[in-house]
Amino acid sequence: MTARLDGTAALVTGASSGIGAATARQLAAEGSAVALAARRIDRLEALAAELRDQGGRAVAIEADITDREQAVAAVKRTVDELGRLDTVVNNAGVMLLGPAVDAPVDEWDRMVALNVQGLLYVTHAAVPHLLEAAETGPRRVADLVNISSVAGRTTRVGSGVYNLTKHGVGAFSDSLRQELTGRHVRVSLIEPGAVATELTDHLRPESLAALATVFADIERLEAPDIADAIAYVVTRPRHVAVNEVLIRPTDQVN
Ligand code: NDP
Repeated sequence: MTARLDGTAALVTGASSGIGAATARQLAAEGSAVALAARRIDRLEALAAELRDQGGRAVAIEADITDREQAVAAVKRTVDELGRLDTVVNNAGVMLLGPAVDAPVDEWDRMVALNVQGLLYVTHAAVPHLLEAAETGPRRVADLVNISSVAGRTTRVGSGVYNLTKHGVGAFSDSLRQELTGRHVRVSLIEPGAVATELTDHLRPESLAALATVFADIERLEAPDIADAIAYVVTRPRHVAVNEVLIRPTDQVN
């Protein structure tokens, strides 16, 4: 049984590419109005126009969510423009790999700032609206979906700080799940394996080469494969909470 998202509104961070863009499309197809947040406003405007052309409601919000004020403003604009907030997908993230010894510390700063702090800022601002949606909304349930990774369950040499951020997302999500579930805000964790997106575009050449040796023969997932999992989670009936989804390419062993 699925429940469509008609009459609800969602905020997707990192909606300008990859998993976020695919998720926004899928939530819109399920009937949700969608707020699209990221820094590349031209991409967001194009996606919003595409969704509106298909009869949906969409708003593009330029925001660097590592800046707390911008994260809070993105949540506020979603509610101001779409009238409510039932679903948040904390998807924006960056993966900068390489050995810890002699690592450029600014890469660590960028991962912690976005994968951890940005997610926390959006969550803190959004939770009161999610609680209200769960109490008064058409579905009497609301969803906070945090995008972690297989890297949030395992570790790898050269991935330590990314592992740290994603393990942290998992820990925070499960604590918050316990806090909110009695009020029908479901907190879910999605843990993708390798997905073909722009995520690896930000790697230093040596890190990209090292990653290629691990994933060379793997047919990677596509962004819509993860969007499907997210849509599955948020369209469950009110009494069903899918706490965690670990989804690897079939070829990916670890
Ligand atoms: P992309 O690089 O395609 O997407 C990352 C998104 O984050 C972009 O929309 C980017 O938009 C946004 N973003 C980056 N910095 C900021 C910022 N400061 N403020 C707001 N938005 C920002 O990669 P994916 O789609 O693959 O990544 C999405 C999530 O999935 C990440 O959390 C990633 O860790 C996770 N993941 C990905 C896997 C993969 O193999 N691809 C595997 C497991 C997890 P913009 O630059 O316009 O701001």
